[in-house]
Order: sequence, then C-alpha cells, then structure tokens
Amino acid sequence: MVLDITQIGNPVLRENCQEVTVAELAKPEMQTFIDDLIETKRAANGAGIAAPQVGKPWRIFVVEVKDNPRYPYKPETELTICVNPEITFLTEERYLNFEGCLSIPDLRGKVPRCPHILVKAWDRNGQPFERQVKGITAGTFQHEDDHLNGIMFPDLADSRTFSTWAEFEQRYEADVREGVKDIVTKWGE
Ligand code: ZN
Repeated sequence: MVLDITQIGNPVLRENCQEVTVAELAKPEMQTFIDDLIETKRAANGAGIAAPQVGKPWRIFVVEVKDNPRYPYKPETELTICVNPEITFLTEERYLNFEGCLSIPDLRGKVPRCPHILVKAWDRNGQPFERQVKGITAGTFQHEDDHLNGIMFPDLADSRTFSTWAEFEQRYEADVREGVKDIVTKWGE
C-alpha cells in the first residue's frame, strides 16, 4: 500500500527515532510496514525513504536507485533495507551533493557529504550486516540516516545554494551530471 508522505512542518520529521527490537521487527504488521515503505518510495520515485517520512518515528530506512526520473544521473543501487543503522565516516574528505527530499516540495540544495562510509545495520529479518558505501550513493545513505535523527537536508546546506526543481534542471543539472561522473570515477558507484 502506498502511504502518505509527511511534509516539512510535521513534527514527526524532527523526532529522534526509536530503535526497533527484534520482536517488533518480527511482527507481521512491521513486515507489511516495510513493504509499504518500499512501495511508497517507488511510487514517489525517491532514491530513498525513511520511516518518519510516512509518520513512524522508527529507525528504518530504505535506499534503491533504478531508472529514477527524479535523479536520472544517480548511479543505480540495489534495494537495501536498514534497521537501526549506524554510519561511520571512513574518510575526512567531503563533496557537495545536490539533494532533494520527498518531504520538502520543490527545493534542492548542496549538502557536504562523506564519500566513503561504513553502514552497519540489521536487514528486515534482524540479521546484522555491514556494507561500505561510496560516492553519490554514500550521500543518499547519509540523507536517509539524518531523517532518523530529525535532521533535514536544508539544516546542513548553504541556503545560497537552494534552488527549485525547474531552476535546477535549467541551470545546474548539466554541471551536476559532470560532477557526478567525477565522483564516480574517483570513488566508484
Ligand atoms: Zn529526505
């Protein structure tokens, strides 16, 4: 079922989300919720979505990029469900990622992101996993993880980089495509 996406101003987006227990994760309602979260992300063409974006203050997000019309220049990445994630930065380096958010209509802005991270999380069955994530995809994981701590991308962006989607497409998208190629060449993904 496609769920309603909460919009900026809704207090759930500013909550410090709760960890999910193994017992909670095992409940059929929680498994249905995760299916709905994935379906909602796909219906909205998001690169990722976090539980508070559908009104639940739980530490769960999903990331997946495949044939994405919102971000046609982003490298593809397989569906990854992260429960109770922890992200560690593996380099001091930062790059500027031009971000948007399903919970913030018609705004994009440049956010400094770490291009090499370690993600430790549980999968939807409560099995722990670790994955190193690089480049543009690492930025997507950091954006979703921020949602679990009540942080939204404009909090981290220089407001002078803010742009509507139409202005972005007209003025910046071509440069961003080139910048993405450079990051992919340097970091992979
Ligand atoms: Zn977002």
